[in-house]
Amino acid sequence: MPSVSCRPAPRCVPVAESAEHDADRIAVAWEQCYLDPLRAVAIGREVAEGGGSLAAEGWLHVALGEVRAGDARTALQALERARALFGPAHDRRGLALCDEVKAIQLRRIGEFAASRRLQADIDKRGDLGYGPCERFIALNSRAITHKLLGHVDEALRDFYGSVEAAQASGLSGPRITALTNLGGYHQDLFNLEDARLLSEQALRAARDAGSAMNIVTAAVNLIFTYHAAGQMAEARAMAGYLLDNESELPAGALDRHALPLALAHLAVGEIDQAQHYLSNGAVTAVGNGDGVTCWAWLQARCLLARGDAALARETAEGTLNERAARKQMDAPYEFMQLLNVAADACEALGDTPAALAHVRRAHLVYEELVGRSARARHLALQANHELAQAQRERDLARDSHRSVEHDRRRLVQLNEALQAQVLETEMLHARLREQALRDPLTGLHNRRYLFEMAPGLLDLARRQAAALCVVLIDLDHFKLLNDTYGHHAGDAVLQRFATLLAQMLRRSDVVCRHGGEEFVAVMPDIDASGAQTMLTRLLEAYQAQQQEMGRRKLPRCSFSAGIAVFPTHGSSLEQLLSRADRALYSAKARGRARIELMPMTDFGTLN
Ligand code: GH3
Ligand code: MG
Ligand code: MG
Repeated sequence: MPSVSCRPAPRCVPVAESAEHDADRIAVAWEQCYLDPLRAVAIGREVAEGGGSLAAEGWLHVALGEVRAGDARTALQALERARALFGPAHDRRGLALCDEVKAIQLRRIGEFAASRRLQADIDKRGDLGYGPCERFIALNSRAITHKLLGHVDEALRDFYGSVEAAQASGLSGPRITALTNLGGYHQDLFNLEDARLLSEQALRAARDAGSAMNIVTAAVNLIFTYHAAGQMAEARAMAGYLLDNESELPAGALDRHALPLALAHLAVGEIDQAQHYLSNGAVTAVGNGDGVTCWAWLQARCLLARGDAALARETAEGTLNERAARKQMDAPYEFMQLLNVAADACEALGDTPAALAHVRRAHLVYEELVGRSARARHLALQANHELAQAQRERDLARDSHRSVEHDRRRLVQLNEALQAQVLETEMLHARLREQALRDPLTGLHNRRYLFEMAPGLLDLARRQAAALCVVLIDLDHFKLLNDTYGHHAGDAVLQRFATLLAQMLRRSDVVCRHGGEEFVAVMPDIDASGAQTMLTRLLEAYQAQQQEMGRRKLPRCSFSAGIAVFPTHGSSLEQLLSRADRALYSAKARGRARIELMPMTDFGTLN
C-alpha cells in the first residue's frame, strides 16, 4: 500500500473560482488606485504573486501605485514583470498601460520632454481599447506633463478630458483627482472663479469618499484661491477645518502644508499663529522651490505687521534678488505678492522711489495674470464644448433610433448657446485686456500699450517717409508737491494733467503714463518744430491752470519735456525714448518748465 502523506493537503481552489476572485480584486485595485494607492499596490501584489491569468494586471497596479506614492525602483521592477507577461500575449492595451506608467515615472524624475514623447507615441497606436478609468489615467498624466512643459492649451484640454473620463468611470478616486487637478490648474492660471468651483466640488467629493489625502489637497488649494479672491474669512475657515480634523488627516499633513496655514492665519491678522507656521522655513509640499517665494512673502508680511519694516524689506528683496539670479519665472502670483510687500516695506521706510519700482513690477505681473485668466476661461469653454460634442456623437451612435431632425435641432441649439458663451468670453477678454493696458489712476494708456503700439507707428512712418516725434514729459518738483500737500493732492494733479494732455494733443497721438509723474507721447506726422509748438502751448495751458484740492489752492505747476525725432535720433522706440530722456535731462538742468529737442551734436556720443 502506498504510504499516506501526513502533511495536510493544500487547500485547493477551483481554477474558475480563483480567476473570479482575482477579477474582483483587480476591480478593487482600480477603485483604490487614486484613493489609496498603496492599498491598490497590496492588492495588485497579491494577485500578481498568485500567478493566475490576471498576474500582469496585478504587476501593473503595483507599478502604478508605487510610481505615484511609493518607491520608483519597485515600480520599475513591477513594470518589467508586467511587460514580460503582456508581451507574449500581444496585449496592446496592457503594453500601452505599461508605457503610461513609464511616462509618469519619467515625469516624476523631471524628464518632461521624454515623458511627452512616450505619450505621443502611445497616441499614435490607434484604438487601444482603454476603458474610462484608463482614459482618465492617460489624460490626467498628459495634462500634467503639458502643464510642466508650459503647454497651457493642451494641458487644459487634457485636464477637461480627464474630468469627463473620470465621471464616466463612476469611480470616486479618479473623479476627485481630476477635479482637484483641474481646479489647481485654473488657480495657476489665475482663473479664480473656475478654480474655486472645481476645488469646492473636489473637496465635497473627497469628503463623501472619506479620502483624507484628497481632502487635504483640495482644502489647501481652496485656501490659496479664497485668499487670492479676497475671501479672507473663507480662507481662515478652511484652515480651521483642517486643524479641527487633524487626527483624521494623513500623518504630517499639516507640517507639509505649513505655508497655506500661515497664509490663512495672516489673512485674518493672526500674526502669532502665522509666524508659528513659518518658523520652519520654506517647508512645502509643492516642490520646485516655489515655496521659497511664498514663504518670503508671508514672512515679510508678518514682519511688516509687527513694525519691523527693515527686516521685512531685507527678507523680501533678498528673495527677489535670488529669483532674479536664478532667472526664476514660476509662481507669478506669489511673486506679485512678494513685490507688493517689498513696496510696502520700502514705503514704510520712506524710500518712495524703491517702493514705486516694486509696485510697477507688481503691476506688470498682475497684467500678465489677468491676461492668463481671460485666456483660461476662453479655453475652458472651448474644451467643454468639444467634450459636449464628443459626448453627443457617442450618444447619437448609441441611440440611433432617435430622429435625425430632433438631433440636428438640439445640435443647433447647443451651438447657439455656445456661440453666445464664446462671444461673452471674448467680450470679457477684450475688457480685461483693455483694463490691463490702462493706467488705473489717470485712465491713460500704460507703458505696455505704448510698447505694443509703437512698432506699428514707426513702421508706418518709415514706409511713408513721414516725420514722427517721441516726447517724454516729466512734472517739475512733483515730490515737493507730494511732500507738502500729500499724496492725494499729487494724485489729483496727475489726473488733471492727464486730462489736459488728452485734450490738447491730437487724436492720432499715442499718449500714455510712463510711470510716476512721467508721460510719453508718440506723435505721428509731425516734425520737431511742430511738436515743439504743440508742447509749448500745452506748457502754457498747464502753467495757467489753477490747481486746487478741495478748497485749498495749490501752487501753479509746470513740466519739462524732451523731444526725439524719428528717424534722425533713432529707429526704435527704445532708442528714441533714451534720446528724449537725454533732452529731458537737459531741460531739467536748464531750469525746468521748458521743452528741449535732442541736440544733433550729442547724437554721436549716445550710441
Ligand atoms: P524734478 O523736477 O527733477 O522732476 O523733481 P521731482 O520731484 O518731480 O522728481 P522725483 O523723481 O524726485 O520725484 C517724483 C515723485 O513722484 C516721487 C514720487 O513720490 C511721486 N510719484 C510717483 N508716482 C506717483 C503717484 O502715482 N502718485 C503720487 N501722488 N505721487 C507719485
Ligand atoms: Mg521723474
Ligand atoms: Mg519730476
